[in-house]
Amino acid sequence: MSKSENKNLKNWDREYIWHPFTQMKDWLKGEPLVIDSADGIYLKDIDGNIYMDGVSSLWVNVHGHRHDHIDAALNKQLRKLSHSTFLGLSNTPAIELAKRLVSLAPKGLKKVFYSDNGSTAIEIAIKMAYQYWQNIGEKKKTHLVHLSNSYHGDTLGSVSVGGIDLFHKVYRKLIFKTISLKGHGWEAVEDLERLLKTRGHSIAALVVEPLVQGAAGMLVWPEGVLRKMSELTLKHNVLFIVDEVATGFGRTGKMFACEHEGVSPDFLCVAKGITGGYLPLAATLTTQKIFDGFLFDYKEQKTFFHGHTYTANPLACATAIANLEVFQKERTLTKLAPKIKFLAKKLKMFYNLPSVADVRQKGFMVGIELHGRLEDRISAQVCERIRKYGVILRPLGNVIVLMPPLSITVEELEFLLMATYRAIEDIENIPVACSGAIYEKQ
Ligand code: PLP
Repeated sequence: MSKSENKNLKNWDREYIWHPFTQMKDWLKGEPLVIDSADGIYLKDIDGNIYMDGVSSLWVNVHGHRHDHIDAALNKQLRKLSHSTFLGLSNTPAIELAKRLVSLAPKGLKKVFYSDNGSTAIEIAIKMAYQYWQNIGEKKKTHLVHLSNSYHGDTLGSVSVGGIDLFHKVYRKLIFKTISLKGHGWEAVEDLERLLKTRGHSIAALVVEPLVQGAAGMLVWPEGVLRKMSELTLKHNVLFIVDEVATGFGRTGKMFACEHEGVSPDFLCVAKGITGGYLPLAATLTTQKIFDGFLFDYKEQKTFFHGHTYTANPLACATAIANLEVFQKERTLTKLAPKIKFLAKKLKMFYNLPSVADVRQKGFMVGIELHGRLEDRISAQVCERIRKYGVILRPLGNVIVLMPPLSITVEELEFLLMATYRAIEDIENIPVACSGAIYEKQ
């Protein structure tokens, strides 16, 4: 593309587009970075600059961009069927994918309900959990419990079980009432136990992000917390909804975070990495018990009246199958283990930097927390600076997030870490005015 065509594109972006999670007043002052192509873990902009995709295109990319096997599967599916409704009809890749997901998921999860993104996967789980109790006559079980600082998406249902004030405060009057647990880790477990002892009979479900609370700034749970929460919900007849939108598909080192603690929830919500970062798709997996709680004569009106136009899109399902095949063919999780170890070892060096307050890691989910006032947006400055070293990162409040594709090599990982280190050092020495084009976003 010529220089003038590139200039036009950037102007049209400012003229026509409203970007997500972005203060557009700041965005309009800056120059948009327009991505045009990609290869492996690298993105290329319209000016020909190449960047390492250090956040996997918002935590979705798994095996790299333009992966031969996934490209081929998508092309093959394109020649057969792009879309056909899932309301009243089924389709080939959706059936095959559901079978594979059930075989991979923690035991007991037997049914797959598709949707398009993480927020809808949660929305579906909380509606199903609520309706399940209504359907079977336990009318008092209506409350939903979640963690403080939780993030489950941006639709109003998922905002209701969310607890990140910066994102959610303004909608408080629009959303339904929920119970937020106090504290983090074992403190939250104690609060849950107290709550269930006194009010368990009125609680429909507990919703959690297992092991790592991503949008809260990569808060990593102590070992055993997830298992204990699972045990408590079982004991008090409360449904357990596990949101693996961020942690699923290898992010924590295992296919699902639940596997670290042998947990089988009542609902498992997955999205992001399910298609390897190719197309929007999500799934809410549940048990035979929940499924059976919706089997009634139609006239009783206990059907799950929920569905989206693009539910179980065949192109998305075909890429998801190919994504799972690559996990097997390339032994992705086996190869990931030494990279996680390498990452853990190297991350220690960040404590040498005076502005680093904490470094948190679980598998390939990393948060480097910086000191400083939130409004100074130091981590956003670091993410802007690191573009000069050819890396794309995104901050979350005061936290710099590293979430590279699982296919990154050890050498590339080392480059990513060194670039991050240098960018933090640069900002410590010469704080730069931040254009605001980079905003904290999950
Ligand atoms: N749940 C978790 C744990 C997430 O991290 C996210 C997004 O970051 C969501 C849900 C929402 O997913 P989506 O943005 O696809 O709606």
